[in-house]
Amino acid sequence: MIKRSFIGLTEPRLRCDLVEPGPKEPEAIPIPPRIILLLNEHLDSTKELLIKKGDTVKKGERIFLYKDSNQYVSAPASGTIKLIAPFTGDFGSLATYLVVETNSKQDIDNSFAERASTPDIEIANSYLRGIAGEPPLKLLAESLSGAKSGAININKIVISGIDDDILCTTRQYVLTRFRDELPKAIELLGQLTGIKDISIAMPEALATLSAFNGMNIVKVSSDYVSSLSPMLMDKYLGISFIPGKTCEELGVCFISVEAALALLKAYTEKMPVYEKIITIIDKNGKKSRVCATIGTPIHRIFSQLGVETAEKDRIIIGGPLRGVATYTLYHPVTPDMDTVIVQDSSQIPMVSDYPCINCGKCVRICPANLPVNVLVRYLEATLYQDASDSCDLLSCVECGLCSYVCSASIPIFQYIRLGKYELMKIESEDVEMEAHNG
Ligand code: SF4
Ligand code: SF4
Repeated sequence: MIKRSFIGLTEPRLRCDLVEPGPKEPEAIPIPPRIILLLNEHLDSTKELLIKKGDTVKKGERIFLYKDSNQYVSAPASGTIKLIAPFTGDFGSLATYLVVETNSKQDIDNSFAERASTPDIEIANSYLRGIAGEPPLKLLAESLSGAKSGAININKIVISGIDDDILCTTRQYVLTRFRDELPKAIELLGQLTGIKDISIAMPEALATLSAFNGMNIVKVSSDYVSSLSPMLMDKYLGISFIPGKTCEELGVCFISVEAALALLKAYTEKMPVYEKIITIIDKNGKKSRVCATIGTPIHRIFSQLGVETAEKDRIIIGGPLRGVATYTLYHPVTPDMDTVIVQDSSQIPMVSDYPCINCGKCVRICPANLPVNVLVRYLEATLYQDASDSCDLLSCVECGLCSYVCSASIPIFQYIRLGKYELMKIESEDVEMEAHNG
C-alpha cells in the first residue's frame, strides 16, 4: 500500500459557515404519533425474536432483537410497537426498522437511573449509545477493557465543536450555547474513561470567547478540509494520519460536543437524552434549527417549519459535500443527524455516465494528493484492490471535493465510499476465514 504524505496538502478552497451571532433557540418539535427506530442488526428468520407487534416499550427501554444480541436501540418515547421490518441501509447493509406508536403520557424506564450514581463506562455503553450525538461508547469501553486485544488504545479525546461540512453549524451552535457546561462534561468524560488528555476542537473564530478560557482548546481554521478529523489530527495534533487506519486506531477518539453534553445531562438528570438539535436548510438556503425527538420522521419537521418539498427535490442528510440523499420523507431523525438540506430539483447537479475527460481538476483539488483521475477508472471497473494498491484509495479523507469539481459529473465520492466499504468487507471475510481455518 502506498502511504501518502499530507505535508504537501493543497490549499483548501472552500470555507465552512460560522454559526450566526446570537442564534435563536431551536424550535421544539413535539413527539410525533409514530417514531421510527433503526436497529443495526438484521432480522434472522432462524432465530426467535424477543419482541413482537403490540409489545409496549417505555421511554429509555432498550430493545434487543434476540437473546444473544449485543446491538440495541433505546426507545426515545414510550408506546406500542406497530411494525418490525427489514431495512436495507447504505451499500446494502441490513438492519431492522421498528415503528412505535407513541403514548401521550410517557412511561419511563428507570434501569439507567438505578445504575447512574457513579460514572461507569460499561453502564454508559449499555444504556447510552443511542443518545443525542451518538457518543462512541462501545469503542471507548472496548479500548478501556482491551476487549479487542489492544487493537484500539485510546489515549486522547477530542470534543468536536467543528461541523464536518461547509453549510453545517449545529455543533458550533451547541458549543457556544452550552459552553458553560463544558468543564463538567470534560470532568465526566475523564471519570468515565480515565483519560486525562481531553481537548475541545473549535473554529478559531469562536475560540476567542472568554468562556473557553482555561480549557484545552484546539483552534481550527475554517477552511473546509481542515475540519475533517484525519486532517485535524495531522495538522493540529501532530499525529500523522496512516492510510487504512481510523483516528481511533491511532489513539484519538473524536466525540461531538452534543454527545459530550448529552452524556453530562444523562448523568445529571438520570435519564438518557433523546432530543436532537438539527439544522434544516430549505430550498432557498434559509437555515432553521430544531430540537426533535430521535425517531421523528423528517416530514414532521418540514411541516412544522413550513418547508416545502416537491416530487423530484432531493433531501440530503448531512452537508452538501459529504451528505447522503434519502429517498423518503419518513427518514427518521437519528442520533448523529446534524443537518438536513432540501435541494430543489432544478438545482441538483446531474450525475452522468460520461467518461473522465482527464481535465485534472480532481487531482489538483484533492487534499490527499491522490491521482483521482486514475483512481476513478479502477473504481468504475470495481477493481477495488487495485484502486488501493496503485492509487492509495485508503488515503482518501472523504472530503467530497473531487465530485464537486468533476467536469464530467462523475459521482467519484460515491464510488470511493463504495470502494472502501467493499475493501473492508473483503478484509473482514479474510480475517473470518483465517480464524475458521485455525
Ligand atoms: S474525496 Fe476525492 S478529493 Fe477528497 S480526499 Fe478523497 S479522493 Fe481526494
Ligand atoms: S475531474 Fe472528473 S473529468 Fe476531470 S480528471 Fe477528474 S474524474 Fe476526470
